[in-house]
Amino acid sequence: MRYAEAGYNLEIDLTRGNIERVATNPEDSQLYLGGLGTNAKIMWDRVPPEVEAFSPDNLLIFAAGLLCGTPATGCNRTIVTTISPMTELLAFSMMGGFWAPELKYAGYDKVILRGKSPDLVYIWIKDDKVEIRDASHLRGKGAVETAKLICEELKEPKAQVAAIGTAGENRVYFASIEQGRSSASRGGIGAVMGDKGVKAIVVRGTKDIHLARPAEYMQLCDEVMEYIKFRNANPIPGVMPILAILGSPQEMKVHDEKWHTENFMWGNSRERRKDFWSKEVADEWKQTMDQMRTRLISCYNCPMTCGATISPPGKPTYMMKCFSKLTYTMAAFSDLAFGLGIAQAATEHGVDGFSAPQVMAFALELLEAGILTKDDFPGLPEDSEGRFYWLLDHIVHRKGIGDILANGTYWAAKQIGNGAEKYAHNNIKKQEQLPLKLSMLNPIYFLMYATGEKMNITQIEGQFPQAPFTTREEREAFVKDWFQVPDEKFKQYFLDWEQRGDNSIPYYPTPTMCCEIVDWQERMHYIDDALGMCAGLSSFPLKPPYHIHNYPKLISSGAGFEMDEVTLTKAAKRYRTLVRALNTRRGMRRKDEKPPANHWKKRFPELEQELLDTYYAFKGWNEQGIPTEETLRDLGLDYVYEEFEKRGVYSNNGDAPSQTTPAESGKEV
Ligand code: SF4
Repeated sequence: MRYAEAGYNLEIDLTRGNIERVATNPEDSQLYLGGLGTNAKIMWDRVPPEVEAFSPDNLLIFAAGLLCGTPATGCNRTIVTTISPMTELLAFSMMGGFWAPELKYAGYDKVILRGKSPDLVYIWIKDDKVEIRDASHLRGKGAVETAKLICEELKEPKAQVAAIGTAGENRVYFASIEQGRSSASRGGIGAVMGDKGVKAIVVRGTKDIHLARPAEYMQLCDEVMEYIKFRNANPIPGVMPILAILGSPQEMKVHDEKWHTENFMWGNSRERRKDFWSKEVADEWKQTMDQMRTRLISCYNCPMTCGATISPPGKPTYMMKCFSKLTYTMAAFSDLAFGLGIAQAATEHGVDGFSAPQVMAFALELLEAGILTKDDFPGLPEDSEGRFYWLLDHIVHRKGIGDILANGTYWAAKQIGNGAEKYAHNNIKKQEQLPLKLSMLNPIYFLMYATGEKMNITQIEGQFPQAPFTTREEREAFVKDWFQVPDEKFKQYFLDWEQRGDNSIPYYPTPTMCCEIVDWQERMHYIDDALGMCAGLSSFPLKPPYHIHNYPKLISSGAGFEMDEVTLTKAAKRYRTLVRALNTRRGMRRKDEKPPANHWKKRFPELEQELLDTYYAFKGWNEQGIPTEETLRDLGLDYVYEEFEKRGVYSNNGDAPSQTTPAESGKEV
């Protein structure tokens, strides 16, 4: 008997139209947990570094986390893993909603797609019955519309649908996979789905999931729920409102956007508007939100209502949450009504809400600078809002200049040349980042930005406050009930952290302390991504209900393999190292590990080198960021070491090229 997990994967060869239900090895679950962990193992075993994103040999894996579908509140994440066309490194995007629990109830932990379908298809999974069905009538349809049409066609209103829009069909490098109440957006995973000829994966399941020790598990779940109620009733004082409570940042409820609009950058992450937020703007934006927000909604088995249905006048209803509320508004120097309106079209087309607005603003900057000319934009409207709709349409259909822009700012700048690269200034590892530019280097964030292999800073940070509190009294009050820390020393680090003087950034926390803090933050995210837990209840907020002390108990009583904090930490380190090994094998080296040059105004090159050196050593990586033999053997990753030796990875260091993408190699896209 398998507990918490189904014990079976669905393997679908799209080229041959073959479908297999394959039993999984329970030992892998103990070593790599599930979700991202076992996805990384499969990618290592089956996708060698020569395989490009749009090769039929690339895999696209949809995984439900180890504890998805159990009564654990908020455990509903689908982890989609593939090789990214944007970075040619490993992409692992997460989505909430209802899809992953439904897959578990159908009797599977993962759907693994390989090959390419000759025609556009969708996959219909209803318990043991799995079909590849024609989707030619859905070509060109929006992602949300597709879900509706399929549910009607199948007469299955409760089926969960993960679908791509036109952007995915046209292999836009920042195409997302949309799922009604969530989306997996980063890394262009929707482009890989489109390249494989799959419009949607539809699931309906009616089976049970078994727990090893149900009474103990339910007791733990009850304790989590009690703590959620406590935290919701007692926001943390002294931190910004979106960090004071739990859940993904509560952007659908928060009306006061002074902090975002005055601290984040507008346009293509270029311009800060320090006095933007006035009473008039606040009143107007509140009215817009009140008019368009039709309902607050949650993901499966969660009371947090982080998302909302948005119904812009004259347009279909769609789901929104988080910072995508502002990305289009700020990129176009417009207002909230425009942002909520164009986000409807962008969701239907299926594009990443971080990358798409920056790419569009980038195009307009190039036009303004004379690097692109009016001839590149035939029929472009005069107004900013109209221009954004024009650009969105051209990008998702790869029309005209949109064909180049669809590769993202990094590759588009290379293709355009003539100084365009200067304008692609907000990338890490070739991918657009949060439009944020700051003054003084923050050593903790430096390490997270530089070394993170998830594709967004918000997917790495959390647990430790972003900045010191003003007074020692405030800090003492904060640490009093901070039981989530893995070690008491973190309380002291925070207590001694001052806004000015010797114990302030960039030299405090010290490099060693920074390493420990970053490692703790990253570890919790990686555990969430293997268990399928929403980061909004675990790794992202301060003082969350899930932490390193109760996770081992949940895994032991839920999945039935015994874990304590030491073995869980080691398992997380194992698959985190495997993710790094995958990217190392694909050419990633120290030279790739740097935040955007203009992310901070005040930089400290020597300190930054010391931080990176100290962190690499702390993680058991060599000076190029490659896991050492000792590290790999200690984690039971001997097979990685042997492969590295065979490929000469240790001797092929600083000059190793990162993989080229189709955009760079000039291959047809
Ligand atoms: S906390 Fe928010 S984003 Fe997370 S599962 Fe709950 S509703 Fe979804």
